[in-house]
Amino acid sequence: YLSNQSTYSHLNAFVSLADPASILSRAEAADSIPDAHETTSPGLAGKLIAIKDNICTTELPTTASSAILKNFTSPYDATVVKQLRDAGAIVAGKTNMDEFGMGSHSTHSHFGPVKFARHSGEQLSAGGSSGGSAVAVASAQCWAALGTDTGGSVRLPAAYTGVVGFKPSYGLLSRWGVIAYANSLDTVGILGRDVESVESVFNKLNSYDPQDPTSIPPSTRSRLGSDRNIMSLRIGIPLDYNMSTLQPAVRRAWIRSLKALQDCGHTLHSVHLPATQHALSAYYVLAPAEASSNLAKYDGVRYGTRAEGIDGTPDSVLFAKTRGQGFGPEVQRRILHGAFTLSAQAMDNYFIQAQKVRRLVQRDFDSIFYTLNPLVKSAPVLHMDAVDVLVCPTTPTLPPTLSDVENQDPLNAYMNDVFTVPASLAGIPAISVPVDLDPSDRNPELVEKGIEERAGMQVIGQYGDDALVLDVAKNLF
Ligand code: GLN
Repeated sequence: YLSNQSTYSHLNAFVSLADPASILSRAEAADSIPDAHETTSPGLAGKLIAIKDNICTTELPTTASSAILKNFTSPYDATVVKQLRDAGAIVAGKTNMDEFGMGSHSTHSHFGPVKFARHSGEQLSAGGSSGGSAVAVASAQCWAALGTDTGGSVRLPAAYTGVVGFKPSYGLLSRWGVIAYANSLDTVGILGRDVESVESVFNKLNSYDPQDPTSIPPSTRSRLGSDRNIMSLRIGIPLDYNMSTLQPAVRRAWIRSLKALQDCGHTLHSVHLPATQHALSAYYVLAPAEASSNLAKYDGVRYGTRAEGIDGTPDSVLFAKTRGQGFGPEVQRRILHGAFTLSAQAMDNYFIQAQKVRRLVQRDFDSIFYTLNPLVKSAPVLHMDAVDVLVCPTTPTLPPTLSDVENQDPLNAYMNDVFTVPASLAGIPAISVPVDLDPSDRNPELVEKGIEERAGMQVIGQYGDDALVLDVAKNLF
């Protein structure tokens, strides 16, 4: 790892790196922690874990890749970081990301874009916003990484870089010390090279945190999860995800994955999720609305680096200059957009409508899953054709090149999230697993060089069925 740091600096995956001497001393200390030598389920002692730069750490700055936080170091560790350290894991560094988590390609960063190349050819999008974490894992600069997933930011970069990315059920992992983008959607997620490593990090972090008011309390946790026979599951194929914009190579990879699941003894069933078509629009109303409210505190007085030479000017000038200089263009766009949809004249038409769509998306999922939603207190419905999990692509396309991304308008960039936002709106667990392309879609030059091109396939389950989702992901991997 220590020699890798300079080899991989061109990828720009890290904003700051842990001091090598402290990594070595912690690694030595970790040797005495018993689970360092576990072989069946990997323990975390001595494991290098990269942390997305919107998760607070005392030892390294936490910038959320924004100029407005470029000088910020947190006085405390986020709960998830503390949990990892307590388990003997070593923080490798803080990873580059889209500013405040807003983006799908990790290009909207004060520290420059994350770069990713599967081979020596063109630079590809690493996906976003946790692109730094995904590339750090893909290039073996760490064993696993934490990211955050508000609308797909762990799953999308996992799909583009060929690693595993898991967004657990909302409220299972603590958000205390995680810089908020859109509180009702923000979820800490995990990236790793295989499902087992992701699972072992999840198991360490999956506990109640009284400091996070949205953390699920022990009484609810004890009711979560279904007792399914995982040898023969009913797999749902959401037909609404078979959109015209779905790249044929991704569609063929989807079909291959479904066949592989059938070969494992599971059965396939088509399902309809009609509200899916409105999920993306609802997300891009709700997330910026929450963001515009959350980001109001970065004004150069309460938080954030104050613009130079404006002390003594009226507050309005101080705020405007600080925010104008401190926030990048995408964040400014989201703040304006969110402030508009929350304004008196637009609220009913946008924010309220989007909340209604969010509820419809949740109901869609509740109507097809065999496990009842443990958070909804309605009379149980007998699901005759219910399914255990859904399997569908993570993104409509394989990773675009960075030059294509530069020429994309913001709306097209938002389209990448069409398959990831529904699970975010519903707060349900979803994992992206890299699967092989159909032989006819493989690039012969890459095959010759032994380079695998993969597509990200998502497994989505009912709220609290995280263990089931991880188990099905193992079947696909
Ligand atoms: N790409 C989405 C957005 O820009 C999702 C981001 C995320 O999950 N943090 O909002």
